[in-house]
Amino acid sequence: MDGFTDLAAGKEGAPILIEQIEAETLSKSGFKYTPVSVGRSNGPDPSLICYDGCACRIQSCVESVGSGSATACSCLSRFRVNYELSDAINSKVLVENKLTGRSTLPIFECNALCKCGDACRNREVQHGVKRQLQIFRTGSRGLGVKTLSGLHRGEFVCEYAGEVITEPEASSRAAQQKATDMNYVISVREHLGSGITATYVDPRTHGNVGRFINHSCDPNLLMLPVRVDSDIP
Ligand SMILES: [Zn+2]
Ligand SMILES: [Zn+2]
Ligand SMILES: [Zn+2]
Repeated sequence: MDGFTDLAAGKEGAPILIEQIEAETLSKSGFKYTPVSVGRSNGPDPSLICYDGCACRIQSCVESVGSGSATACSCLSRFRVNYELSDAINSKVLVENKLTGRSTLPIFECNALCKCGDACRNREVQHGVKRQLQIFRTGSRGLGVKTLSGLHRGEFVCEYAGEVITEPEASSRAAQQKATDMNYVISVREHLGSGITATYVDPRTHGNVGRFINHSCDPNLLMLPVRVDSDIP
């Protein structure tokens, strides 16, 4: 599109369209695009590989197999199937019970140590944005995000990527941001087996397209923790 540029500069699976002039303003303000979350010194490190992989030496993992020489996938046996193929969009969607929260099992994708292929059905969020997204100036709410084609229920849109920080750092940044602009720091609390884990992400200066999504009283998106290599969602 004329006058538009890719804010992600090719780092996502699809260009993140934004008007050239808006991209320049963001760049001048110090904003840097990162498709995945990044760590800060003495903070949690999202690049650490924390989980074992499965031993499926096949293109795509399968949940269980009958009497054969192959063994069932350890990733899918533990956390069950996360995605199914939707014929309507020829793409993956999150299975209904994980979308609605009826399944209490967390969403773990196949990771860097898994022996399956890149096309494994249990790999989706790790491939980044696939939908054509556009950042645009809203009437009175600053920048917002829209899709250029309809979304299907359960379809992955984008991560909320940014700097992963500690709780005290998150409190001080949130207070600072509220005073000058708006607060981008998000806190995700999860009840896991070992208790409550909290993750704090600040995409204000290092972030992805998720940073531009606005709040809504009638939202059409849902935020869910998804893990790949790291214990940080
Ligand atoms: Zn797999
Ligand atoms: Zn597997
Ligand atoms: Zn796996």
